[in-house]
Amino acid sequence: MSYERNNIRDMQGYSWGEQPRQSRVIKLNTNENPYPPAPEVAQALTDVNVAELRRYPPPFADDFREVAADLHGVSQNNIMATNGGDELLRLIITTFADAGDTIAMAEPSYSLYPVLAAVQNCKMQRIPLNDDWGLPQDFADQLNASGARIAFIVNPHAPTGRLLSAPELAQIAETFQGVLVIDEAYVDFISPDISYNAVPLVKQLDNVILLRTMSKGYSLAGLRFAYGIASESLLAPMLFKTRDSYNTDLISQRLATAALKSQAYARECWQRVRDERSRLASALSDLGFDVLPSHSNFLLVTWAARQVGGELLDANALYQALKAQGILVRYFAQPRLQDKLRITVGTQEENNTLLQAIRGLAGQ
Ligand SMILES: *Cc1c(COP(=O)(O)O)cnc(C)c1O
Repeated sequence: MSYERNNIRDMQGYSWGEQPRQSRVIKLNTNENPYPPAPEVAQALTDVNVAELRRYPPPFADDFREVAADLHGVSQNNIMATNGGDELLRLIITTFADAGDTIAMAEPSYSLYPVLAAVQNCKMQRIPLNDDWGLPQDFADQLNASGARIAFIVNPHAPTGRLLSAPELAQIAETFQGVLVIDEAYVDFISPDISYNAVPLVKQLDNVILLRTMSKGYSLAGLRFAYGIASESLLAPMLFKTRDSYNTDLISQRLATAALKSQAYARECWQRVRDERSRLASALSDLGFDVLPSHSNFLLVTWAARQVGGELLDANALYQALKAQGILVRYFAQPRLQDKLRITVGTQEENNTLLQAIRGLAGQ
Protein backbone atom coordinates (compact mmCIF):
# COMPACT_ATOMS: atom_id res chain seq x y z
CA MET A 1 0.00 0.00 0.00
CA SER A 2 1.37 3.38 -0.98
CA TYR A 3 0.18 6.42 0.92
CA GLU A 4 1.99 9.08 -1.08
CA ARG A 5 0.25 11.68 -3.21
CA ASN A 6 0.34 10.63 -6.87
CA ASN A 7 2.87 13.26 -7.90
CA ILE A 8 5.22 12.28 -5.08
CA ARG A 9 5.00 8.61 -6.09
CA ASP A 10 5.80 9.52 -9.69
CA MET A 11 8.64 11.99 -9.09
CA GLN A 12 12.40 11.48 -8.79
CA GLY A 13 14.26 12.85 -5.75
CA TYR A 14 17.32 15.09 -5.87
CA SER A 15 20.64 13.41 -6.63
CA TRP A 16 23.37 14.75 -4.41
CA GLY A 17 26.98 15.15 -5.41
CA GLU A 18 28.86 12.40 -3.59
CA GLN A 19 29.52 13.21 0.08
CA PRO A 20 32.14 10.65 1.13
CA ARG A 21 32.64 9.82 4.82
CA GLN A 22 36.44 9.66 4.58
CA SER A 23 38.14 13.04 4.78
CA ARG A 24 41.17 11.96 2.74
CA VAL A 25 39.26 12.43 -0.49
CA ILE A 26 39.99 15.60 -2.46
CA LYS A 27 36.51 16.97 -2.82
CA LEU A 28 36.04 19.25 -5.80
CA ASN A 29 32.49 18.18 -6.66
CA THR A 30 29.98 20.27 -4.68
CA ASN A 31 31.42 23.79 -4.73
CA GLU A 32 32.23 24.05 -1.07
CA ASN A 33 34.71 26.71 0.05
CA PRO A 34 38.20 25.19 0.54
CA TYR A 35 39.01 27.50 3.47
CA PRO A 36 37.67 27.23 7.03
CA PRO A 37 34.99 29.58 8.40
CA ALA A 38 36.15 32.80 10.10
CA PRO A 39 37.77 32.40 13.55
CA GLU A 40 34.85 34.47 14.93
CA VAL A 41 32.54 31.58 14.01
CA ALA A 42 34.50 29.18 16.23
CA GLN A 43 34.37 31.78 19.01
CA ALA A 44 30.60 32.19 18.62
CA LEU A 45 30.20 28.43 18.95
CA THR A 46 32.31 28.37 22.11
CA ASP A 47 30.21 31.21 23.49
CA VAL A 48 26.94 29.29 23.13
CA ASN A 49 25.70 28.35 26.58
CA VAL A 50 23.84 25.05 26.29
CA ALA A 51 21.38 26.23 28.94
CA GLU A 52 20.12 28.80 26.42
CA LEU A 53 18.79 25.98 24.27
CA ARG A 54 15.97 25.50 26.78
CA ARG A 55 14.20 28.44 25.14
CA TYR A 56 12.97 28.84 21.57
CA PRO A 57 15.26 30.88 19.32
CA PRO A 58 14.42 34.42 18.10
CA PRO A 59 11.70 33.61 15.53
CA PHE A 60 12.90 36.08 12.87
CA ALA A 61 16.66 35.82 13.50
CA ASP A 62 16.64 39.58 14.06
CA ASP A 63 20.33 39.91 14.99
CA PHE A 64 21.26 38.25 11.74
CA ARG A 65 18.77 40.36 9.78
CA GLU A 66 20.22 43.53 11.24
CA VAL A 67 23.76 42.65 10.13
CA ALA A 68 22.56 41.55 6.68
CA ALA A 69 20.44 44.69 6.23
CA ASP A 70 23.45 46.90 7.12
CA LEU A 71 25.72 44.99 4.78
CA HIS A 72 23.36 45.36 1.82
CA GLY A 73 21.96 48.81 2.54
CA VAL A 74 18.36 47.65 2.88
CA SER A 75 15.86 47.52 5.72
CA GLN A 76 15.55 44.50 8.04
CA ASN A 77 12.11 43.94 6.51
CA ASN A 78 13.83 43.18 3.21
CA ILE A 79 15.67 40.19 4.73
CA MET A 80 14.39 36.71 5.59
CA ALA A 81 16.66 34.08 7.16
CA THR A 82 16.16 30.45 6.15
CA ASN A 83 17.45 26.98 6.91
CA GLY A 84 19.75 26.92 3.89
CA GLY A 85 18.97 28.32 0.46
CA ASP A 86 17.08 25.16 -0.31
CA GLU A 87 14.44 26.07 2.28
CA LEU A 88 14.02 29.49 0.71
CA LEU A 89 13.48 27.88 -2.69
CA ARG A 90 10.87 25.53 -1.25
CA LEU A 91 9.10 28.43 0.48
CA ILE A 92 9.01 30.47 -2.72
CA ILE A 93 7.43 27.59 -4.62
CA THR A 94 4.87 26.66 -1.98
CA THR A 95 3.93 30.32 -1.41
CA PHE A 96 3.70 31.58 -5.00
CA ALA A 97 2.67 28.56 -7.10
CA ASP A 98 -0.42 26.36 -6.92
CA ALA A 99 -0.46 22.71 -7.92
CA GLY A 100 -0.80 22.65 -11.70
CA ASP A 101 0.87 26.05 -12.16
CA THR A 102 3.96 26.45 -14.32
CA ILE A 103 7.42 27.30 -13.00
CA ALA A 104 10.25 28.16 -15.38
CA MET A 105 14.00 27.79 -15.34
CA ALA A 106 16.86 28.19 -17.74
CA GLU A 107 18.27 24.83 -18.78
CA PRO A 108 20.75 23.63 -17.66
CA SER A 109 20.81 24.94 -14.11
CA TYR A 110 20.37 23.86 -10.46
CA SER A 111 18.79 20.39 -10.50
CA LEU A 112 16.92 21.01 -7.23
CA TYR A 113 14.42 23.37 -8.92
CA PRO A 114 12.57 20.64 -10.85
CA VAL A 115 12.50 18.45 -7.74
CA LEU A 116 10.86 21.17 -5.63
CA ALA A 117 8.45 21.96 -8.46
CA ALA A 118 7.46 18.29 -8.66
CA VAL A 119 6.79 18.19 -4.90
CA GLN A 120 4.31 21.05 -5.35
CA ASN A 121 2.88 19.27 -8.43
CA CYS A 122 3.84 22.16 -10.69
CA LYS A 123 4.80 21.93 -14.35
CA MET A 124 8.40 22.86 -15.17
CA GLN A 125 9.06 24.93 -18.28
CA ARG A 126 12.72 24.54 -19.25
CA ILE A 127 14.07 27.31 -21.45
CA PRO A 128 17.34 26.26 -23.12
CA LEU A 129 20.31 28.57 -22.83
CA ASN A 130 21.98 29.77 -26.04
CA ASP A 131 25.05 28.01 -27.39
CA ASP A 132 27.24 30.49 -25.51
CA TRP A 133 25.21 29.74 -22.33
CA GLY A 134 23.64 33.19 -22.36
CA LEU A 135 19.89 33.67 -21.94
CA PRO A 136 17.84 33.90 -25.11
CA GLN A 137 17.04 37.51 -26.05
CA ASP A 138 13.32 36.94 -25.59
CA PHE A 139 13.64 35.08 -22.27
CA ALA A 140 11.07 37.25 -20.44
CA ASP A 141 8.59 36.92 -23.31
CA GLN A 142 9.03 33.15 -23.22
CA LEU A 143 8.37 33.22 -19.49
CA ASN A 144 5.15 35.17 -19.98
CA ALA A 145 4.04 32.94 -22.87
CA SER A 146 4.47 29.88 -20.65
CA GLY A 147 2.28 31.47 -17.98
CA ALA A 148 5.03 30.86 -15.38
CA ARG A 149 4.27 32.08 -11.86
CA ILE A 150 7.93 31.83 -10.83
CA ALA A 151 11.19 31.84 -12.83
CA PHE A 152 14.65 30.87 -11.62
CA ILE A 153 17.91 32.38 -12.83
CA VAL A 154 21.24 31.42 -11.25
CA ASN A 155 23.69 34.35 -11.38
CA PRO A 156 26.61 33.77 -11.64
CA HIS A 157 25.21 30.79 -13.46
CA ALA A 158 25.78 27.20 -12.39
CA PRO A 159 27.19 25.07 -13.89
CA THR A 160 28.79 27.51 -16.36
CA GLY A 161 30.03 30.41 -14.18
CA ARG A 162 28.61 32.99 -16.61
CA LEU A 163 27.42 36.34 -15.25
CA LEU A 164 24.44 38.47 -16.30
CA SER A 165 24.60 42.19 -15.52
CA ALA A 166 22.15 43.85 -13.13
CA PRO A 167 20.56 45.91 -15.97
CA GLU A 168 19.94 42.71 -17.94
CA LEU A 169 18.23 41.21 -14.88
CA ALA A 170 16.19 44.39 -14.36
CA GLN A 171 14.93 44.20 -17.91
CA ILE A 172 13.76 40.62 -17.43
CA ALA A 173 12.09 41.42 -14.11
CA GLU A 174 10.28 44.43 -15.57
CA THR A 175 8.78 42.36 -18.39
CA PHE A 176 8.08 39.13 -16.50
CA GLN A 177 4.66 38.96 -14.88
CA GLY A 178 5.62 36.46 -12.17
CA VAL A 179 8.18 36.22 -9.34
CA LEU A 180 11.79 36.30 -10.54
CA VAL A 181 14.20 34.40 -8.30
CA ILE A 182 17.82 35.43 -8.80
CA ASP A 183 19.82 32.68 -7.16
CA GLU A 184 23.07 34.35 -6.08
CA ALA A 185 24.59 31.33 -4.34
CA TYR A 186 27.98 32.16 -5.93
CA VAL A 187 27.82 35.96 -5.96
CA ASP A 188 30.71 36.34 -3.49
CA PHE A 189 33.21 35.00 -6.00
CA ILE A 190 32.61 37.74 -8.57
CA SER A 191 35.68 39.94 -8.88
CA PRO A 192 35.26 43.32 -7.13
CA ASP A 193 36.59 44.88 -10.37
CA ILE A 194 33.19 44.07 -11.85
CA SER A 195 30.66 46.33 -10.20
CA TYR A 196 27.81 43.82 -10.04
CA ASN A 197 25.04 44.53 -7.54
CA ALA A 198 21.48 43.31 -7.96
CA VAL A 199 20.30 44.42 -4.50
CA PRO A 200 18.98 47.80 -5.72
CA LEU A 201 16.51 45.88 -7.92
CA VAL A 202 14.48 44.80 -4.90
CA LYS A 203 13.86 48.47 -4.05
CA GLN A 204 12.36 49.18 -7.46
CA LEU A 205 10.70 45.90 -8.34
CA ASP A 206 8.31 44.01 -6.06
CA ASN A 207 8.66 40.73 -8.00
CA VAL A 208 12.39 40.11 -7.48
CA ILE A 209 13.91 37.94 -4.76
CA LEU A 210 17.63 37.35 -4.34
CA LEU A 211 18.91 34.17 -2.75
CA ARG A 212 22.10 34.44 -0.69
CA THR A 213 23.64 31.51 1.15
CA MET A 214 26.28 31.14 3.87
CA SER A 215 27.19 27.72 2.38
CA LYS A 216 29.64 28.77 -0.32
CA GLY A 217 31.13 32.22 0.31
CA TYR A 218 31.23 31.84 4.09
CA SER A 219 32.37 28.19 4.28
CA LEU A 220 29.26 27.09 6.21
CA ALA A 221 27.59 24.44 4.02
CA GLY A 222 27.32 22.19 7.07
CA LEU A 223 25.46 24.82 9.09
CA ARG A 224 22.42 25.30 6.81
CA PHE A 225 21.84 29.05 6.75
CA ALA A 226 20.81 31.37 3.95
CA TYR A 227 18.66 34.43 3.37
CA GLY A 228 16.39 36.10 0.88
CA ILE A 229 16.50 39.78 -0.06
CA ALA A 230 13.27 41.18 -1.50
CA SER A 231 10.60 43.82 -1.18
CA GLU A 232 8.65 43.76 2.06
CA SER A 233 5.46 42.80 0.24
CA LEU A 234 7.07 39.79 -1.43
CA LEU A 235 8.64 38.50 1.79
CA ALA A 236 5.62 39.06 4.03
CA PRO A 237 3.60 35.91 3.16
CA MET A 238 6.68 33.73 3.69
CA LEU A 239 7.81 35.51 6.87
CA PHE A 240 4.41 35.48 8.54
CA LYS A 241 2.54 32.51 7.06
CA THR A 242 4.32 29.72 5.19
CA ARG A 243 7.67 29.46 6.98
CA ASP A 244 8.15 27.09 9.95
CA SER A 245 7.60 29.09 13.13
CA TYR A 246 11.25 28.69 14.21
CA ASN A 247 12.92 27.87 10.90
CA THR A 248 16.48 28.68 11.97
CA ASP A 249 17.93 27.47 15.26
CA LEU A 250 19.77 29.50 17.87
CA ILE A 251 23.23 28.06 17.22
CA SER A 252 22.94 28.63 13.46
CA GLN A 253 21.75 32.20 13.98
CA ARG A 254 24.73 33.00 16.20
CA LEU A 255 27.29 31.38 13.89
CA ALA A 256 25.84 32.84 10.70
CA THR A 257 25.77 36.31 12.26
CA ALA A 258 29.42 36.00 13.31
CA ALA A 259 30.39 34.88 9.82
CA LEU A 260 28.52 37.68 8.07
CA LYS A 261 30.14 40.24 10.39
CA SER A 262 33.62 38.93 9.49
CA GLN A 263 33.67 40.62 6.09
CA ALA A 264 37.43 41.21 5.96
CA TYR A 265 38.14 37.51 6.49
CA ALA A 266 35.51 36.47 3.96
CA ARG A 267 36.83 38.87 1.33
CA GLU A 268 40.33 37.49 1.77
CA CYS A 269 39.05 33.93 1.19
CA TRP A 270 37.15 35.01 -1.93
CA GLN A 271 40.27 36.62 -3.33
CA ARG A 272 42.28 33.45 -2.70
CA VAL A 273 39.62 31.44 -4.50
CA ARG A 274 39.75 33.86 -7.46
CA ASP A 275 43.56 33.68 -7.61
CA GLU A 276 43.44 29.91 -7.64
CA ARG A 277 40.59 29.98 -10.15
CA SER A 278 42.71 31.79 -12.72
CA ARG A 279 45.78 29.64 -12.03
CA LEU A 280 43.73 26.42 -12.34
CA ALA A 281 41.98 27.68 -15.46
CA SER A 282 45.21 28.33 -17.31
CA ALA A 283 46.78 25.05 -16.15
CA LEU A 284 43.73 23.09 -17.33
CA SER A 285 43.76 24.94 -20.59
CA ASP A 286 47.44 23.96 -21.03
CA LEU A 287 46.35 20.34 -20.53
CA GLY A 288 43.98 20.59 -23.47
CA PHE A 289 40.69 21.45 -21.76
CA ASP A 290 38.41 24.10 -23.15
CA VAL A 291 37.82 26.27 -20.06
CA LEU A 292 34.85 28.63 -19.78
CA PRO A 293 35.57 31.95 -18.06
CA SER A 294 34.00 31.71 -14.58
CA HIS A 295 32.73 34.27 -12.07
CA SER A 296 32.17 31.52 -9.52
CA ASN A 297 34.21 29.09 -7.41
CA PHE A 298 34.11 26.35 -10.03
CA LEU A 299 35.13 25.85 -13.64
CA LEU A 300 33.15 24.12 -16.36
CA VAL A 301 35.66 22.49 -18.65
CA THR A 302 35.24 20.51 -21.87
CA TRP A 303 37.38 17.47 -22.48
CA ALA A 304 37.64 16.23 -26.05
CA ALA A 305 37.56 12.41 -25.96
CA ARG A 306 40.83 10.83 -27.04
CA GLN A 307 42.64 7.49 -27.16
CA VAL A 308 45.11 7.01 -24.32
CA GLY A 309 47.06 3.74 -24.17
CA GLY A 310 44.53 2.03 -26.44
CA GLU A 311 41.48 3.10 -24.41
CA LEU A 312 38.98 5.87 -25.01
CA LEU A 313 39.36 8.59 -22.40
CA ASP A 314 36.19 10.71 -22.52
CA ALA A 315 34.92 13.09 -19.81
CA ASN A 316 33.05 10.33 -17.99
CA ALA A 317 36.07 8.02 -18.06
CA LEU A 318 38.25 10.85 -16.79
CA TYR A 319 35.77 11.54 -13.95
CA GLN A 320 35.77 7.82 -13.03
CA ALA A 321 39.57 7.56 -13.18
CA LEU A 322 39.99 10.63 -10.94
CA LYS A 323 37.48 9.19 -8.50
CA ALA A 324 39.47 5.95 -8.36
CA GLN A 325 42.43 8.11 -7.24
CA GLY A 326 40.36 9.77 -4.52
CA ILE A 327 39.66 13.00 -6.40
CA LEU A 328 35.99 13.89 -6.82
CA VAL A 329 34.80 16.29 -9.51
CA ARG A 330 31.26 16.58 -10.91
CA TYR A 331 30.12 14.82 -14.05
CA PHE A 332 26.63 15.43 -15.47
CA ALA A 333 25.31 12.69 -17.76
CA GLN A 334 22.94 15.01 -19.58
CA PRO A 335 22.63 16.69 -22.97
CA ARG A 336 25.18 19.49 -23.59
CA LEU A 337 27.21 18.55 -20.49
CA GLN A 338 28.29 14.97 -21.12
CA ASP A 339 31.68 16.02 -22.52
CA LYS A 340 32.35 18.32 -19.57
CA LEU A 341 33.45 18.30 -15.95
CA ARG A 342 32.54 20.84 -13.30
CA ILE A 343 35.54 21.32 -11.04
CA THR A 344 35.34 23.22 -7.75
CA VAL A 345 38.35 25.44 -7.12
CA GLY A 346 40.23 23.88 -4.19
CA THR A 347 43.28 24.91 -2.22
CA GLN A 348 46.53 25.31 -4.14
CA GLU A 349 47.64 21.89 -2.92
CA GLU A 350 44.36 20.20 -3.92
CA ASN A 351 44.43 21.81 -7.34
CA ASN A 352 48.03 20.72 -7.87
CA THR A 353 47.12 17.13 -6.96
CA LEU A 354 44.25 17.27 -9.44
CA LEU A 355 46.46 18.63 -12.21
CA GLN A 356 49.14 16.01 -11.52
CA ALA A 357 46.53 13.23 -11.66
CA ILE A 358 45.15 14.49 -14.98
CA ARG A 359 48.64 14.71 -16.45
CA GLY A 360 49.20 11.10 -15.45
CA LEU A 361 45.88 9.90 -16.87
CA ALA A 362 46.24 11.79 -20.11
CA GLY A 363 49.80 10.49 -20.57
CA GLN A 364 51.33 13.99 -20.50
C1 LIG B 1 24.54 25.81 -3.20
C2 LIG B 1 23.40 26.38 -3.95
C3 LIG B 1 22.24 26.88 -3.34
C4 LIG B 1 21.95 26.92 -1.88
O1 LIG B 1 22.52 25.96 -1.13
P1 LIG B 1 22.24 25.85 0.43
O2 LIG B 1 23.39 25.08 0.92
O3 LIG B 1 20.91 25.14 0.57
O4 LIG B 1 22.16 27.23 0.98
C5 LIG B 1 21.27 27.43 -4.15
N1 LIG B 1 21.42 27.48 -5.48
C6 LIG B 1 22.49 27.02 -6.10
C7 LIG B 1 22.59 27.14 -7.57
C8 LIG B 1 23.52 26.44 -5.37
O5 LIG B 1 24.59 25.95 -6.01
